[in-house]
Amino acid sequence: MSTVASISCSKYEEELVIKAVKRAVSELGGLSQWIDEGDRVLIKPNLLSPKAPEQAVTTHPLVLKATIQLVKEVGAIPIVGESSGGFLAEESLTAKAFDKTGTQTVCEEMNVEMINFDRVETEVVANSGSTVAEFNLPLPVLDADFIISLPKMKTHSLTLFTGAVKNLYGVIPGLKKMEYHRQFPNPNNFAEVIVDIFATVGADLAIMDGIIGLAGDGPGSSGVPCAVGTILASDDLVALDTVAANYLGYKDKQVQILNLAAKRGLGKASLRMIEIKGDFEQPDYRRYDLPSNAFLSHLPNFLLKPFLELMMSKPIINQKNCTHCRTCLKSCPQLVIEEIDQGEDYHLEIDQEGCIKCLCCQEVCPYDAVDLKEHLLIKLIRQLS
Ligand code: SF4
Ligand code: SF4
Repeated sequence: MSTVASISCSKYEEELVIKAVKRAVSELGGLSQWIDEGDRVLIKPNLLSPKAPEQAVTTHPLVLKATIQLVKEVGAIPIVGESSGGFLAEESLTAKAFDKTGTQTVCEEMNVEMINFDRVETEVVANSGSTVAEFNLPLPVLDADFIISLPKMKTHSLTLFTGAVKNLYGVIPGLKKMEYHRQFPNPNNFAEVIVDIFATVGADLAIMDGIIGLAGDGPGSSGVPCAVGTILASDDLVALDTVAANYLGYKDKQVQILNLAAKRGLGKASLRMIEIKGDFEQPDYRRYDLPSNAFLSHLPNFLLKPFLELMMSKPIINQKNCTHCRTCLKSCPQLVIEEIDQGEDYHLEIDQEGCIKCLCCQEVCPYDAVDLKEHLLIKLIRQLS
């Protein structure tokens, strides 16, 4: 049996958030059972892209602040690290994300070191799983005595859900993340990479920002903010994600990452095996929209692969919003975003033939100019169901 604490917190007010985070961790027995004075504690928020906190795409800075405070209270040394989605050689999207999400302000205010994983030394670590032979992990990740995953509760158009486990994909420095998308375009295979990273990094605790989560076609700006109203904590990251995915409307076994992780003994992915502590009542989850691709996960496995490839929602550049900044073009792992230059008419287009629907373009677009176009058949089925 695993334990997940779920504490009510209705809004981003400093006092309320600090109280909720503190209570969630104390329901588990308190931080001091795991952390000693002087330990280096790496906190890994989800800073997917440079978005303001109210867009509900990234971990809210107040949840980070509350976690830093807890770590300091036990006399340990908090550090904050991330590698955001996308990668540009000439400018760091991670540095922009630190700034725009409010993370930098909190770290400066609390005198906490902030580490951009795109810009630090890495070490090769063998992968115990089957996807790739090894991972290049940033030294601060390997040197940490304790790792806290600090995710945002969100849906995800490719993996259906992103939480504590998938948040660890952001310890992989920028360019490599794009390579894995290219190497493992099938969502089920990509889920295996995520679980391999989780097994290799082995985070010790997760505290999830579910005060305002993201529903619909997350994890970027196509998602719809949803006020779930809870802070979750657990030392079983798979169990925490299972509870959070359930709050958003998923059923047990619907999220492949969690199934794979449970199969490998990395945590519990069944609500029957999880004790939920705290004062939070499960909301009426039916009011939240799941990603348009979520319906496909109900299909049996032999149908899933061809259906996913054929019917996943397509990224389309919204020409009205696009400023031609070319960030998406430089971040596309397949190099299928084309510049169409016909004199006065210059615009960008996605060549759907080579697109693997990884949605990196949507994640990195600073102007919310990449829309998702749902397949007509899926739209029809969703309307009828
Ligand atoms: S779609 Fe977004 S990222 Fe791409 S060029 Fe347009 S504004 Fe820039
Ligand atoms: S165009 Fe396709 S392959 Fe390229 S980043 Fe976007 S979703 Fe991924």
